Amino acid sequence: MPDIIQLLPDHVANQIAAGEVVQRPSSVVKELMENAIDAEATIIKLIVREAGKTLIQVIDNGKGMSQTDARLSFERHATSKIKKAEDLFNLHTKGFRGEALASIAAIAHVELRTRQESQQLGSCLKIEGSTLISQENISTPTGTSVAVKNLFYNIPARRNFLKSNTIETRHIVNEFQRVALAHPNIAFSFYHNENEVYNLSTGNLRQRIVAILGKKTNEKLVPIHEITDLVEIKGFVTKPEFAKRKRDEQFFFVNDRFIKNAYLNHAVSSAFENLLSGGHYPTYFLYLTVPTNSIDINIHPTKTEIKFDDEKTLYAILRSAVKHSLGQYNVGPILDFDRDATLDTPYNLKDKNLPNPRVTVNHDFNPFKPEEQKSIQFPYHREKNREWESLYNGLDSANIDFKSETADSEFFSEEKSNSKTYQVHKKYIVSSIKSGIVYINQQLAHQRILYEEFLGNITVKDAMSQQLLFPLELSFNTTDITLIKEIKDELESIGFLFGEISNDTIMVMGMPVNIIESQINGIIENLLEDIKNDIPNTSFSQVDIMAKSLSKSLAIKTGTKLDLKEQEDIVNKLFLCKQPDSSPFGKRTFVTVNIDEIDKKFNN
Ligand code: ADP
Ligand code: MG
Repeated sequence: MPDIIQLLPDHVANQIAAGEVVQRPSSVVKELMENAIDAEATIIKLIVREAGKTLIQVIDNGKGMSQTDARLSFERHATSKIKKAEDLFNLHTKGFRGEALASIAAIAHVELRTRQESQQLGSCLKIEGSTLISQENISTPTGTSVAVKNLFYNIPARRNFLKSNTIETRHIVNEFQRVALAHPNIAFSFYHNENEVYNLSTGNLRQRIVAILGKKTNEKLVPIHEITDLVEIKGFVTKPEFAKRKRDEQFFFVNDRFIKNAYLNHAVSSAFENLLSGGHYPTYFLYLTVPTNSIDINIHPTKTEIKFDDEKTLYAILRSAVKHSLGQYNVGPILDFDRDATLDTPYNLKDKNLPNPRVTVNHDFNPFKPEEQKSIQFPYHREKNREWESLYNGLDSANIDFKSETADSEFFSEEKSNSKTYQVHKKYIVSSIKSGIVYINQQLAHQRILYEEFLGNITVKDAMSQQLLFPLELSFNTTDITLIKEIKDELESIGFLFGEISNDTIMVMGMPVNIIESQINGIIENLLEDIKNDIPNTSFSQVDIMAKSLSKSLAIKTGTKLDLKEQEDIVNKLFLCKQPDSSPFGKRTFVTVNIDEIDKKFNN
């Protein structure tokens, strides 16, 4: 048999590579603009015709290229940005693969004009489908202009695959916005079919955001600034009342590079938890600066995904930074930035030796702060005008006994009572308070209590476990077994104990104290279902979902009769929660009825 393997000719290899780099006109926009930024340009102009299908041109005033470099820049893996493999872990440029120009030139007609400041004449190169058509000396301004015409002219399948001009233009605008938002210190302009779309002068971040998204944005922005050993976070979120139904204004930049990251997005969203009504998403512009050696940009050809060394800690810091800012600007319900930051971290971090996030806190901010440090900070010390705060604003002696072993006597003491709670319709716990009456939904309140307990156990300490007299063997399919193995640690930290785990069975040796044996199977099944329905591969969300799922499974249900002790237990524990007023799923846990309202009913 003759040998049959041969090396692909360059232009074929380039076309294949182009498939990865250039998905649509906006990919070209991104690559060319990034090259201009890497060339240290301060003014960048983008010219587009027919949604980029006939022309995409980027003109910059950067450092330009020598004649030889101009020719070399179209070779595959030709780059001036890295020299050796280690450089990959210390990237300061947008590009580094040396693939973009080669790929683009393989599937379009390209004209490059470039001149370095030190040179009299510049170069002009024309390349079509990887073939050099001409190279000549020309006079041209310092900097570089790359014009890309007739994209995909030689790959009709790709050309036909392009969407309508409206859609392709939208992609280009998005790409332009991302680059422009990342670099407020560079002036950008953008023309489409001779019309000026943007003309952005240099300025600060806020000015750039407002210039791109409109004047009205200004009043909506809440600034964020946090510096820790691991990361510096700058930028803005918008106030919750301006949340949008679309997610199109969510921007993360890492070391000035736009990235997408579901996990970090979750961190921000969770900081907004309970501040947004269903179907609304926070808008944010967040700029993270991390040491270049702590990220890996290499995992995606178009580089919108990044791997972080320590994602979990980053998550915790980001979430607390956003919460902190929302609190400081008085838009969050609970100002909890005095709390131990690890309590905010719903992951299994307990075994990790974390650098303590250095969160700068304005301690003077808390108007209720007592002289001496209290062991527990109650959220309701922090902010006025909370509905549930009225519960405490004058508890009289005949009212609820909020005292508990950890409660702060200043708020609960003397006021204790022979107070009674009542259960109504096996659904609500009712009690009188000074301002009127409180109705607590037993099921939702208990969900909240359990949710916070589970999160606490998973993140901070190991929970109590009860050994089973006879280990329980449960059967699952292989997918579920794999999932159980993944969350085994977390399950053990809340009190489960597992023996052997085979391909289709698990042995349960112990379980949390508040579970009864007959429930175990159902609880684990619900849990697996809930995790499967969540965003994949986000370990935070697994822990959060676990706590939610377990609290839902285990909470006392509507229809359960509660004795007095159980009722009081719920009342006490609920108001020791960080967020007593809502269930883990955002539903109200209690309502109050003011005595005036009751009076009114009698006056009619
Ligand atoms: P990469 O950006 O990954 O290095 P590219 O194919 O995008 O690969 O560019 C190849 C090289 O061409 C760059 O490394 C750079 O040296 C040079 N180059 C490209 N565009 C410009 C520009 N606008 N100004 C100056 N040099 C450029
Ligand atoms: Mg590049």
